[in-house]
Amino acid sequence: MMRWSIATVCLGGGLETKLAAAARAGFRSVELFENDLTFFPGKARDARRLAADLGLEIVALQPLRDFEGATGPARARNFERARRKLELTRDLGAPLLCLCSSVAEDASGEPERIVADLAELADLARQYGLRIGYEALAWGRHVQDWTAAADIVAKADRANLGVVLDSFHICARGNPIAPIADLPAERIALVQVADALALQMDPLSLSRHYRCYPGQGDYPIVDYLEAVARAGYAGPVSLEIFNEQFRGASAASIAVDGMRSLRAAGETLAARGVAGFAAPPRAPEVLAPDFLEFAASGKDAVDLADLFAGLGFVCTGRHRSKMVDLYAQGGVNLVINREKEGFAHAFQLLHGPSVCALTLKVDSVERAMERARAMEVPAHAGRIGPAEKLIPAVGGVEGSLIYFVDDKGPDWRDDFVSDVEAPAGPLTRIDHLSNVVRRGEFLSWSLFYKTVLGLLAEPQVEIADPHGAFYSRSLRSPNGALRIALNIGDGGATGVSRFLDAFGGAGYQQIALATDDIFAAVEAARGRGVEFLPIPDNYYDDLATRFEIAPDLLERLRALGVLYDRVKEGEFLHVYTRAFRNRFFFEIVERRGYDLFGAANTPARLAAQANLDEAEARIVAVAAI
Ligand code: MG
Repeated sequence: MMRWSIATVCLGGGLETKLAAAARAGFRSVELFENDLTFFPGKARDARRLAADLGLEIVALQPLRDFEGATGPARARNFERARRKLELTRDLGAPLLCLCSSVAEDASGEPERIVADLAELADLARQYGLRIGYEALAWGRHVQDWTAAADIVAKADRANLGVVLDSFHICARGNPIAPIADLPAERIALVQVADALALQMDPLSLSRHYRCYPGQGDYPIVDYLEAVARAGYAGPVSLEIFNEQFRGASAASIAVDGMRSLRAAGETLAARGVAGFAAPPRAPEVLAPDFLEFAASGKDAVDLADLFAGLGFVCTGRHRSKMVDLYAQGGVNLVINREKEGFAHAFQLLHGPSVCALTLKVDSVERAMERARAMEVPAHAGRIGPAEKLIPAVGGVEGSLIYFVDDKGPDWRDDFVSDVEAPAGPLTRIDHLSNVVRRGEFLSWSLFYKTVLGLLAEPQVEIADPHGAFYSRSLRSPNGALRIALNIGDGGATGVSRFLDAFGGAGYQQIALATDDIFAAVEAARGRGVEFLPIPDNYYDDLATRFEIAPDLLERLRALGVLYDRVKEGEFLHVYTRAFRNRFFFEIVERRGYDLFGAANTPARLAAQANLDEAEARIVAVAAI
């Protein structure tokens, strides 16, 4: 049976950190990149012991480079180099040394010569009791395709020589995947797996910066693994990701992401009936966001309650024993937690007034928690939440919590004294939420939502910010009940950067609430003093040139600062409140058959927010003079 492995090159830090992170994430095998050994203060045998103590088997050392096709003294030098690497491989206790196809300009491309070099190298390796794996680099001088590497390996015909398959090179070159299933299993020395974004660029740059874990990119990784399994391969499958964002993040969390991505791939393989893969408990069905919890205190809490009231919410419950209030309207429940100790308080000290938790109503809490465990997400320990009852939870973005509730478990509403009915509207439900995350966390949270909550990801979109760029990827549950947009930004003064600075990290920035009548909702909210983002007149002049739009509708939009988008399927009307303490804002949306997020208007929103922030900065500057 195939076993999951990770190459040390995926992780940041020194060798000891990398190995410990891999072991903690549940890996039992690692592939060692020679640089990690070069900078390790001990000997190869010490590294071997270190790995063994952590329960890790070193499955391969890599790479031996620019070996085959050399002539004259260079060829002799290459064999000398190979001998030293074989000694190192032996000292590490690894069974395999990986050779990458040569990129040397003067390397001969003569097939007979390459075949002879590999045969001789395999014979040398046999003296050490070792195997050689040959990998076609997509940018190799003469050998670029796995089919070519496999052909050479077959011709060299040594029992201890096989091909190293790497999904990155195979997919970047557009090599066929299905014929991998016809390879004799004993001719596959190692299987490496890396996904990548389908960007049009040279494969070397793509490989160095845009590799990612299975499921984080666009390559058909599951097809690849299925072909490998059908070939009868039963060795290690090793993640091999070159990506500076990975190395810049915590090795522990990146190692866990790796395991999570492989478990998710294994789930799809099991569903396809490929033997040897276990299906984890199914992801929960998310029925609806049940409540959003805000942590706030003092004047912040008072002003936030005012904002809720302005938006038409009514305080429908006070907690029996805690400083926690429930505000409701339609199907939307918002909670303000003003406690002076506990989780929400600690979160507020770190981030200021903020969304500290999201509660999801699911079909089964038990399965949601089992699924989380299977994806290496620990249950949040301790007494948590606004309820007296223990609500099962896991950690979300920046240490916020995701609680799970279902029909079988205790009802958190029982903890509230309530004698007021929630008004039916105009706001009816949470339409979507957005998380702003650091660039280096984007793939990680995308993977989390996909694997733990079973959300489906849509392609990433790129939008101009007045101070840089804005990238967004939306994720949604298959039934559409939960939609989360993950946003990142580039540029020091972008809206995303300003948020990250103000917030002290990643978090919930946008809470979009649905209505059936946006004009009534906005008029009522304005009447109660809610301030919305001012939209320049020019936006509406431009709108009239983009769409054929009834003059009275255009004037209503303009009068209330409501944004508008239209696609074939329908129309979208939406409006944003001014940000609360520069941290989060509400959006009110009316969908008329429209199923997107209004990304066409995101530049208008970002520009309006930038204008406001600049105006505020000018006021502060004047006040300081
Ligand atoms: Mg490779």
